Amino acid sequence: DSVTARQTGSTPGTKKKIAVMTSGGDAPGMNPAVRAVVRAGIYYGCDVFAVYEGYEGLVKGGDLLRPIGWEDVRSYLSLGGTAIGTARCAEFRERAGRLQGAYNMIVNGIDALIVCGGDGSLTGADLFRSEWPSLVDELVSTRRLTAKQVEPYRHLTIVGLVGSIDNDMSSTDATIGAYSSLARITELVDYLDATAQSHSRAFVVEVMGRHCGWLGLMAGVATGADCIFIPERPPPADQWASELKKVCSRHREKGRRQTTVIIAEGAIDNQLNPITAENVKDVLVDLGLDTRITTLGHVQRGGTAVAYDRLLATQQGVDAVRAVLELTPADPSPMIGIAENKVVRRPLMEAVKFTKEVAKSIDARDFDRAMQLRDSTFAEAYHNYLATTLHDDGSQVLPADKRLTIGIVHVGASSSGLNAATRAAALYCISKGHRLLAIKNGFSGLIYDGGVHELQWIDVENWYNLGGSEIGTNRSLPSENFGAVAYQLQRHQLDGLIIVGGFESFTALHEMESERDNYPVFRMPMVVIPATVSNNVPGTEYSLGADTCLNQLTDYCDAVKQSASSSRRRVFVVEVQGGHSGYMASCCGLVTGAIATYTPEATVSLRTIQEDILLLHDVFANDKGEDHNGKIIVRNEQASSVYSTELIADIVREAADGRFETRTAIPGHVQQGFTPSSMDRVYAVRFAVQACRFIEASAWHDASVESSAPPAASSAVVLGIQGARLRFSPISSLYASDADVSLRKGKTIHWHEINDINDILSGRLLLRGGG
Ligand code: ATP
Repeated sequence: DSVTARQTGSTPGTKKKIAVMTSGGDAPGMNPAVRAVVRAGIYYGCDVFAVYEGYEGLVKGGDLLRPIGWEDVRSYLSLGGTAIGTARCAEFRERAGRLQGAYNMIVNGIDALIVCGGDGSLTGADLFRSEWPSLVDELVSTRRLTAKQVEPYRHLTIVGLVGSIDNDMSSTDATIGAYSSLARITELVDYLDATAQSHSRAFVVEVMGRHCGWLGLMAGVATGADCIFIPERPPPADQWASELKKVCSRHREKGRRQTTVIIAEGAIDNQLNPITAENVKDVLVDLGLDTRITTLGHVQRGGTAVAYDRLLATQQGVDAVRAVLELTPADPSPMIGIAENKVVRRPLMEAVKFTKEVAKSIDARDFDRAMQLRDSTFAEAYHNYLATTLHDDGSQVLPADKRLTIGIVHVGASSSGLNAATRAAALYCISKGHRLLAIKNGFSGLIYDGGVHELQWIDVENWYNLGGSEIGTNRSLPSENFGAVAYQLQRHQLDGLIIVGGFESFTALHEMESERDNYPVFRMPMVVIPATVSNNVPGTEYSLGADTCLNQLTDYCDAVKQSASSSRRRVFVVEVQGGHSGYMASCCGLVTGAIATYTPEATVSLRTIQEDILLLHDVFANDKGEDHNGKIIVRNEQASSVYSTELIADIVREAADGRFETRTAIPGHVQQGFTPSSMDRVYAVRFAVQACRFIEASAWHDASVESSAPPAASSAVVLGIQGARLRFSPISSLYASDADVSLRKGKTIHWHEINDINDILSGRLLLRGGG
């Protein structure tokens, strides 16, 4: 009763033959996308074909267009590049090539095409669909096919998945591969930083992005670069060199030992003259800096996809299949995108059109429009970059009556984004003339030592890649001594407070808000920036540190799986942190292709374990010896009080009957730490600036200053991402409606979809007769 034996026809209804292809430049995450399409397609009862070598496979047909099965994509999650190949295909740009493509699809019975590629590939796909009726007519009129043969194929369903490292497609916040590329760049710039600091050197780092500055911008944000050059924001031709000198010497005068300039390959000035790495180097040399150029080149495409890209590609791949099944001929072809944390479908034609308009706007020197046409967070990230990096020149300092004193405190367990967020808040405050006071060692530090110090530029400038907490964190809460907390806040004349941390920071904010009548100083505006590997703070679907943790787990699980290579058939039961929140375990299961994921949100029973053992038997029985990796069961540490990690391993071992071995693998505290991921760094800056702006708006009673988020009804809020929006949620209502205090998590399980997808792609649901 195996998965492969029931690959087709398990779902009644419209059965489709779907072809999936990758096209254009390869991007990390393309393989996970193909895996998701193949398995979701099979799960929903479709036949799935792979088109090898991009559009070339469609044009040439034959062996380049063939069925692909469940087992064929088994190791795809951790594979970089694209295993089904990609190519630039000139023939497809011509009608004759597309006609041949249509012919090959029809003779293979294919009526839907899912294309994962960049704007060129999706332009081609869009054109293919718009021409389709005429291509079919031509095949009949030239007698290559009969009217009867083409009848079932009068309509072609096309769905676009955006796979590109550049993140250059409009209508989506992120493309598949962009965050992997950013991670690679960030990692490499970190390496350069170490040597730059040692020798007090300057580095000019050239990153990819001929027409799109997303990588350059985000790398600048994530690595605290002194200056960036991107095509969408060209500097004045006659001023950029002197501006560059000014900012670099200013930072050096403040004590910075290194200089980093990030330049996108397509950087230009406002007269559209290219600005090259050599040009930038000349300016820095002129400044007297020992300057080197590093062109990162193709390593930026590199390697295995980061966790976020695996998640994004998987969720979008499944949605692409669902779209194929749901679309009617009247619907425009969709492109699957992401808005903040929500997978969205957008009209493909529109997305392509907007993307092309960016290049046109740049050529027409309408740079503001070019910025607008990028995703919604692009302009925000640019402003955040300026606010935290360039505006330390005093040009943005507010009048004295607007300047504030803001406190920042870390609460709860350590995680990776705490310092990056604190740095960004401090730099933002300095640019505006506010003071950011760091409260040392959490609320107990405030209560017992009153330890507070003002953060200066040089204290924080290099905290962007520093894990842990420089100002100290612990789990103590204000209720330990409300009076002392109130006294200290009053003594330091705080106008607002930023609380960075996990569930304790949420509890701390609730406590202080509840005591506002007794301690009027608590009426100051207060914001929680969620930062915890458990991602268990009500009011947000994203917490700083969670992405770093997930990447640590991804690397750990990839390594553990591979340790079982050669002939050893092994199952690992991996124990993941998260307290009573199964978020991290669910995501870990998805990005590592776990056979089963046990979380507190679903009851683990003997029956579940039995069924999963059957699945394991099935998987090993179908392994034709090509997949040498171990299998994984992910178990959240609190998934069950009875079925411990050891016990599950023992049960599986006993039932394996010698057919495979079983081991436990417990990564422990590596999950909490180390260098923050590039995504956590970017979000740390975003959250910190948003939190400061919220405090400004509340303190000045000026709703217009607030931020991109809708106005909050309260001055004690949790900052977070909810679905497609960034929001400030009042603590009072969140606490009442969404907090599960005893289990230390929110009541809303925002990752249900991830669990559902896990069950589809592991084969669990198919084996249980779902689908
Ligand atoms: P990347 O973002 O990595 O550059 P891309 O998808 O934009 O990826 P392109 O080289 O522009 O990469 O396009 C890939 C393939 O898509 C081309 O080789 C061609 O086969 C097809 N294609 C691109 N543009 C068109 C078009 N206007 N009409 C038909 N086919 C096209």
